[in-house]
Amino acid sequence: MLNLILFGPPGSGKGTQAAKLEKTYGLFHISTGDMFRSEIENGTELGKQAHEFMSRGELVPDEVTIGMLRNRMLAHSEAKGFIFDGFPRTEPQADALDHLMSGMNQQIDALILLEVPEEEIVHRILKRGKDSNRSDDGDEDVIRNRFRVYQSKTAPIYNYYDKRGKAFKISGLGTIDEIFSCLLEAVDSLRV
Ligand code: AMP
Repeated sequence: MLNLILFGPPGSGKGTQAAKLEKTYGLFHISTGDMFRSEIENGTELGKQAHEFMSRGELVPDEVTIGMLRNRMLAHSEAKGFIFDGFPRTEPQADALDHLMSGMNQQIDALILLEVPEEEIVHRILKRGKDSNRSDDGDEDVIRNRFRVYQSKTAPIYNYYDKRGKAFKISGLGTIDEIFSCLLEAVDSLRV
């Protein structure tokens, strides 16, 4: 079993790298952002609730997010392990994840932070907004708010795992393959 959290600001490349890790280690990838976007596309009540917060660059309330994540994990309890992408983003979410994992007799093995500075984030997300239909990617004010929310509410989660010796940092700058090879090194160091 291997359970990883890919961590970092919006636009740091978590989704891209998680997809590569998923293939390499046969893990189940859970992106709460993708789950919300699919709820919105399907016009569900949950999607309507989430959209209100996402369009402003705010976090969806913890109880909504945790409930959705719990259902997805329980539906895939046979997985060889999980890669969490975009979760946890607050301390109550980190506590809930610990709780869910221990209920499955599992634990988080590592949190890996992809470090990318704000100006690069804004540049990347505006570019992504042109090629995708992510509604929160087109507006610079919303992007900067997402970064502020990340710094105030989410970044402190790094310490939550660091205190337990489970937090790692790598640079999120460089080519996709360069970053992936740093990630592989970090993950393989856990497995020896
Ligand atoms: P992402 O694709 O991970 O950048 O997420 C897009 C948006 O979905 C975020 O700006 C939040 O509004 C919402 N979201 C995704 N994951 C979470 C989470 N774990 N907690 C609260 N809101 C979230």
